[in-house]
Amino acid sequence: MGKHTFGSEYGFQTRAVHTGNDVDGETGAIKRPITMANSYELPYDPTDLNWSSAGGNLYTRNGGSNQKYLQEKIASLEGGEDCIVLASGVAALSGLFFALLEKGDHVIFSSVTYIAVYRLLHELLNNKFGVETTIVDTSDVENVKKAIRPNTKLIHIETPGNPTLNISDIRAIADVAHEHGALLSVDNTFASPFNQRPIELGADFSVESLTKYINGHGDAMGGSITGKKEYLDIIRAQSQINLGGTISPFNAWLIMRGAVTLPLRMKQHNENALAVAKWLQKQDCVSFVAYPGLEDHKGHEIAAKQMNPGFGGVLSFGLKADHDTHNRFVSHLNVITSAVSLGHDESLIVFLGENDERQYLYPDEFSNGFFRFSVGIEDVEDIIGDLRQALEKTGFSTK
Ligand SMILES: *Cc1c(COP(=O)(O)O)cnc(C)c1O
Repeated sequence: MGKHTFGSEYGFQTRAVHTGNDVDGETGAIKRPITMANSYELPYDPTDLNWSSAGGNLYTRNGGSNQKYLQEKIASLEGGEDCIVLASGVAALSGLFFALLEKGDHVIFSSVTYIAVYRLLHELLNNKFGVETTIVDTSDVENVKKAIRPNTKLIHIETPGNPTLNISDIRAIADVAHEHGALLSVDNTFASPFNQRPIELGADFSVESLTKYINGHGDAMGGSITGKKEYLDIIRAQSQINLGGTISPFNAWLIMRGAVTLPLRMKQHNENALAVAKWLQKQDCVSFVAYPGLEDHKGHEIAAKQMNPGFGGVLSFGLKADHDTHNRFVSHLNVITSAVSLGHDESLIVFLGENDERQYLYPDEFSNGFFRFSVGIEDVEDIIGDLRQALEKTGFSTK
C-alpha cells in the first residue's frame, strides 16, 4: 500500500489531484487521514534528540504529517525542490525575511506589495533590527538595477501587485539579483502557480498566501515558501521552529483538499475576470480598469510572457464619483460581497479610499479611491448583472 508518487512527468492537473495524497498505510483508506496530535512517541532513549530539529515526527511545530503532505503538493505545483507551509501568508513572508536578513543587509522591494510586507521590511526590520530598505517601482527593471548596493541580500517583488495589479518582469529581475549575488523572492499569491511559476522563471523563492486561490474556499488560512532545500532548511530551522507560525493539521488538510481543484477554479477565475474587466471598460461611469489581461494594461506584454494560461481573478477599478457614491454602489451589490481577502470561490470587493497611506506610490488614476475586486467563479452573467443593477441603483446608466 502507498508509495504512489507523481513527479514532473505528470501534468499540473494530475499533480493537483494526486501529489501529497496516498493510500493510508494503516487502514487502506484512499485519502490520508488528519493527524490532530501535538506530539509523537519518542524512541527508547530520547536524550540525543535535537528538540529544535525540523522535519521528523517529534512535535507538530517541528513538523507534522498533514503539513508534510501539503508541502509535497505545493512544491510540485510550484516546480520547486522543497516547500515550507505555515499558518498564514504573512507567517511565510516573515519567516522568509527573518531567516534571510541580518543587521546591515539591504533589501529592495516593490512599491506595490501586500501591506504587511511594507510593515515587516520598511518599519519593523528596518527600525528595530537595522535592515536597510529601498522601495522601488519594480515594474521597470532599471529602477531595480539602480537601487542595488554591495550589501543587497534580497529583492522581494509581488506580481501582479496587490492592489494596483502592476506587473514586474520576474526573469529580468532574477538576472539582476543573481548578477549581484542577491536572492529574489516573488509573492505569487495573485497569479497562483496555475498561471505563473516564479521558480521556473529564475526566482529563488515563490511565496503564496494559501488562504487565497490555493485553498480557494475562504475557510482556512495558510502560507507557503517554495525554493531550494539549501535555503529552506535555514528558514525551517530558524523561523518555523522559533517564530512558531505553525499551521494546524486541520487547516493543512483543508488547503490540501481545496488545492485539488485549483486548475479548474483558476480557469474560471481567469475567464470571468477578463469578461468583467472588458465589461467595466465599456461603462462611461468607470474611471479606470486595471487588469493585466487587458491589452492596454501597462504590464500586459510582460504579463503575457510570464503568466499562462491566464491573468488571474483580481482586478481594480474606480468610479467617476465621490467617496460616498463608491460606498453606496457597494451597498447595492447582492452576489458580490464587501469583504477583504481574495481568491475565494465567491466574488469579493473592497473599497480602498483615497486616503490609503501608500496612495503616493500608486498610479494617478487610483487617487480618487478604487475597488479591489476578486472575481469569483459564479456564473459570469450573474456577476456582471449584479454590477449592472448596483450601478443603476446608484444612479448611473450602463451599457
Ligand atoms: C493576503 C495576501 C498576503 C497575506 O496572506 P495571509 O494569508 O492573509 O497572511 C500576502 N500577499 C498577498 C499578495 C496577499 O494577497
